[in-house]
Amino acid sequence: MRLLLLLCSLSLWLFGFNAFVSDAKVANGKTTLVEIKKEDGYRYRGIKLASKEFELYDHPKKAGWLYAIVPISYYQKPEDMRLVISFVHNSKEQSRELFIKVEDGKYEKEKISVQPSKVKLSGKNKERAEREYAEAMKIYSKVTQKNYLVSAFIYPMQSKITSDFGKARVYNDTLNGFHGGTDFRADVGTPIVAVNDGVVVLASDRFYSGNSMIIDHGRGVYSCYFHMSRFDVKVGDIVKRGVQIGLSGKSGRVTGPHLHFAIRVNNTLVDPMQFIATLNQNLLQE
Ligand SMILES: [Zn+2]
Repeated sequence: MRLLLLLCSLSLWLFGFNAFVSDAKVANGKTTLVEIKKEDGYRYRGIKLASKEFELYDHPKKAGWLYAIVPISYYQKPEDMRLVISFVHNSKEQSRELFIKVEDGKYEKEKISVQPSKVKLSGKNKERAEREYAEAMKIYSKVTQKNYLVSAFIYPMQSKITSDFGKARVYNDTLNGFHGGTDFRADVGTPIVAVNDGVVVLASDRFYSGNSMIIDHGRGVYSCYFHMSRFDVKVGDIVKRGVQIGLSGKSGRVTGPHLHFAIRVNNTLVDPMQFIATLNQNLLQE
């Protein structure tokens, strides 16, 4: 695969193109970065993976380069996929392809017992959960052009991780999705900080996730903090990395107090720890 990728990169370079992906092999639920060297006479449009499109932005660390953050859906099957880079050259619409190998994330299964009323929903709760889901999807599908990501990400708290992203979840013996974030051990009242600069776009009580906060970091990147007991900032506030945004709790559908921390990129839930490591290493300043 490495050789194949090398050959691809080489051939792209021969066409006046230099582009590569940070991880040629990437598991479902993980994030990869595409980097493209800008050449004179080329106008770069964007990147496509299957039916999803991703915008290209100026690389903050490498002058003359562009980048795109490409999240791989948890539900993506293992297979070789094409990343299609489109551009205009000599007044003609053209494209080149890079290949990535999507691997099986080999996520574990986890059995959880919760109040039956939080699995089999009453009509009223179902309506509420659906309304809140629609509200969240509306937020996540918006790509804010302003960029708040300059410095490296930090963690929302310094605490033990009690459940990783991606575990298939079996609630009261019924398979019900997967764990869409990382859980941090936290007694009720533990301070939570913003993982990076951004704008608070949601701070409300929701059926499943309890007191929930969402921060928009720009360019399609959102961080989420669930099951909180107190909000210290409100919708519309611009927050700086490391500022206290509230306290952890046990609101919503939980088995005990903890912080559920999640990252969404272009409306795709990704492993937050791997996302942070990838961006910090390749894109952001220490
Ligand atoms: Zn969780």
